[in-house]
Amino acid sequence: MVLADLGARLHGALNQLSRASVIDDTVIHALLKELCAALLESDVNVKLVSQLRTKVKTKVRKSLEEAEKAGGKEVNKKNVVQKAVFDELVALVDPGTEPYKPVKGKTNVLMAVGIQGAGKTTTCTKLAVHYQRRGFRSCLVCADTFRAGAFDQLKQNATKAKIPFYGSYTETDPVAIASLGVEKFRKERFDVIIVDTSGRHKQESELFEEMVAIGSAVKPDMTIMVLDASIGQAAEGQSRAFKDSADFGAIIVTKLDGHAKGGGAISAVAATKTPIIFLGTGEHLNDLERFTPQPFISKLLG
Ligand code: GDP
Repeated sequence: MVLADLGARLHGALNQLSRASVIDDTVIHALLKELCAALLESDVNVKLVSQLRTKVKTKVRKSLEEAEKAGGKEVNKKNVVQKAVFDELVALVDPGTEPYKPVKGKTNVLMAVGIQGAGKTTTCTKLAVHYQRRGFRSCLVCADTFRAGAFDQLKQNATKAKIPFYGSYTETDPVAIASLGVEKFRKERFDVIIVDTSGRHKQESELFEEMVAIGSAVKPDMTIMVLDASIGQAAEGQSRAFKDSADFGAIIVTKLDGHAKGGGAISAVAATKTPIIFLGTGEHLNDLERFTPQPFISKLLG
């Protein structure tokens, strides 16, 4: 189920609740059943869905008990259930850790990692444009020496976006390119230096070794995993493997404009306890949306 459909279905389930004349266990059970079915069909991990169900039930019970203890004042059961559902949906996409935020007046190095085709090169340019617009002098370094044409692609994107870039057609060592590029731009006092690394077709040791070596050389302030939403449930395992080898502090989920279900990416947040910072919503340079848990869930629920 794509994200828009998931939103519509969650919205529908909560509407059913609003229409019910009495909020009893049967109504709550039906709501949770529908919510959980929708989340599962969107590829959210089974364990997370089951935890959500238990947590909502516990929260509702506790709130009602507390209200009773506090003098039996008439409590709006619908609000209690709606709030518990909302809070737990937010918790699904909120690992409770703050991502690194680039600071003005210093050089911030960001490094993108991920599988080939996830959207790294595209996302790096989108990010550079995003920060440039907010007053950060931004630039790009292409440390992808694995994929033929990677530098050309970055160069083309950067030129279109008027972002300075660094790369090489002759140097084959990605660590050397990354180091030289970052050093050059650091000297030139750029605020945000974004290093694009190479991917492979799947997570494999050679890729991880390369990422670790580049990371040690450029010491990024934030490593960002670029995760393709269209890989569904595989997103969880993939992000876990990347986290174990090349620790990252933020996730950008790409291709949410297509037929991606999105639930796999949501599960990746819990699996790696890492926040999503942006969503890629198209191929165009402007198709990047900032991600924050509460507004995302509010918008999803319509
Ligand atoms: P890389 O191998 O990880 O560097 O991936 P690329 O940046 O080359 O992207 C692979 C393909 O995905 C390209 O055709 C991009 O235009 C496309 N792409 C990247 N991000 C998005 C997105 O958010 N939405 C859509 N629809 N396509 C995207």
